[in-house]
Amino acid sequence: MRRIMRSLPGMNELSIKHKIVLISVCTTMLALVMSAVIIIVADYARQRAKMVEATSVLSSLVSFNAGAALAFRDPEVASDVLSGFSLLPDVVEATIFLPDGKEFVTYRSQQERHKDLLVVAAGQPESQDLSFSNAAVMNPGRPVFSRFFMDYSKPIFFGNTRQGVIAIRADLGSIYSHIAFSIVVTLCSLLIALLISVFVSQRLQKSVSRPIAELAGAFREVSSSKDYSKRLLLLARDEIGDLATGFNTMLEVVGERDREMGNLVRELKEATETKSAFLANMSHEIRTPLHGILGITSLLLEASEDSKDQKYFQTIDHSARTLLQIINDILDLSRIEADRFEPEIEQFSIKDVVENIVGLLAPVAIEKGVTLSVLMGENVPSDLKGDSRRLMQILVNLVGNALKFTGAGSVELKISMQDAVESGFLLLFEVTDTGIGISEESQVGIFNDFSQVDDSISRRFGGTGLGLSVSKSIVELLSGEIGVQSTEGEGSRFWFRLPFEAASVERTGAGLMSTVSDGQSNPMEGKPKKKYSGKVLLADDSDVNRFIMIETLKSYGIEAMAVEDGVGAVKAASTGVFDMIILDIQMPDIDGMEAARQIRNSNANVAVDKATPIIAFTASAMQGDRERFLEAGMDDYLSKPMQNEQLQSVLARWLGELET
Ligand code: ADP
Repeated sequence: MRRIMRSLPGMNELSIKHKIVLISVCTTMLALVMSAVIIIVADYARQRAKMVEATSVLSSLVSFNAGAALAFRDPEVASDVLSGFSLLPDVVEATIFLPDGKEFVTYRSQQERHKDLLVVAAGQPESQDLSFSNAAVMNPGRPVFSRFFMDYSKPIFFGNTRQGVIAIRADLGSIYSHIAFSIVVTLCSLLIALLISVFVSQRLQKSVSRPIAELAGAFREVSSSKDYSKRLLLLARDEIGDLATGFNTMLEVVGERDREMGNLVRELKEATETKSAFLANMSHEIRTPLHGILGITSLLLEASEDSKDQKYFQTIDHSARTLLQIINDILDLSRIEADRFEPEIEQFSIKDVVENIVGLLAPVAIEKGVTLSVLMGENVPSDLKGDSRRLMQILVNLVGNALKFTGAGSVELKISMQDAVESGFLLLFEVTDTGIGISEESQVGIFNDFSQVDDSISRRFGGTGLGLSVSKSIVELLSGEIGVQSTEGEGSRFWFRLPFEAASVERTGAGLMSTVSDGQSNPMEGKPKKKYSGKVLLADDSDVNRFIMIETLKSYGIEAMAVEDGVGAVKAASTGVFDMIILDIQMPDIDGMEAARQIRNSNANVAVDKATPIIAFTASAMQGDRERFLEAGMDDYLSKPMQNEQLQSVLARWLGELET
């Protein structure tokens, strides 16, 4: 049965409800069909026995009455006696045979239904000599059944002398029609039984399938809603009840675990947030004095004529920049971990990025005697839209690493255009060096946090093992890809792809953009110092920032004046005449934006006209900040820490550059 059920196509896909109905209907029907077959077969046997009995009784009577007629060879009397068989409607033919086997008299049924059968009987092979089966005539008293007939014989005695044999042929048709009728009746009852069985099992299956369906529904609901407080209310005390109890217990355990996990995750999140906040604060606190050191060093470098002093200042500058890089990496990592990373999308020139990188890293290349070159591929747009600060950060890290791990030879940065993507195109950046290379095993986890190939190498070259991991996270957060190919002892090729939007149709020229090698001077050094003219007001609450900005502005030939806060700025702006006002955004009392609003809206303010540019000086240059500054009446912004290049471009934009 199980095999039958299993072999039924689609059985596994059926619901429990349908399976139960199918099983009970199949079982009932199988039992009913079996018993119907047995009843019909038994009925058939009984009908045959009845026919034998009736034929035997009548033939005994006839043989007794026909004895004398046969002894006196009186065929008429014998025929009369035989006509008694008309009482048995199934008898088709009865013949009295003489002892020598010759037919003496024959009776044939006059019934319409027997006419065809007599023709059939005459056509039977055994009826050629005798109309009856030899077996029946030779074995009196034993019925012989063929397809249509039953043959039966009885000896005829007169006194003690055997006078002959009477053979009778009975038609089985009545038995067949009786059986056919029984089969029809059985089939009808089976059909009724089938309908009843389907109806009853449909009703009864509910008591089994409903709790299972409820259980399955509860499983589904819990797994989709993750609400482990749900409980099943099942009254059944059977296996399904046990299952429901087990399910409820499981939900309790899972719910408890879930709560514990939730608490743990919350604690972990809080801990991570605290750590990130601590790191962010610390980094900020460390960065502020570092920017001071960098700013002052840059001023000292510019002012110093003595080459020994210059060397000292360059060392301070290099150390401070390295420290700043490490702190920036830590800050970025904590921001990324705390999901506080936001792309800063702005328009920038790819040439400026390259120049900045070369300017920053050329001293290292020159000092190590490594050739640093930048190659620009075809069709790279000159102005792009994207996160230039992060792009710089990744490039400084990769090119810085390449220079760090290359003793002699070259480092090449190649920028080329890749496929167009939905919102723009992909740029491919490749940094190739001829340095120590990285073994295949070490390449596997190289982008993980704090991963360094070899401690001794790291100690020799320095580093935290954070740069590549931060670069990878940033590239991925900006929807790009990063990778490495390297052969130990031969060199490495780090590459990354980033999507950008083109901000102009202008293209940079393809080819070698810049190259720095041993003996050559830093391209950023020795550039003629730019000069500007005008009067600038600066408001910043940080003494160090004020000092650096004022000194730098002065070194550009600008007349600069500084105040400590927003109130001072508003006051100074209403009394003095300035060509530009630079306002720190975060100041006590009134911040830079409020100060800008007051300066723009003041009626008493005659000195500052509406055209005087107000520049925001800010450590946060997030997306949307620019709009907020413009809304407050500001015209441009400078990011902190102050970068000479950015300051120069703002000065050139609003004051105009003087010929030098
Ligand atoms: P750091 O340089 O501060 O140690 P990074 O994450 O930038 O950290 O680099 C991780 C490690 O990967 C380095 O310590 C160095 O072992 C290996 N590495 C990175 N760039 C190169 C390179 N260009 N050539 C050889 N090894 C490299």
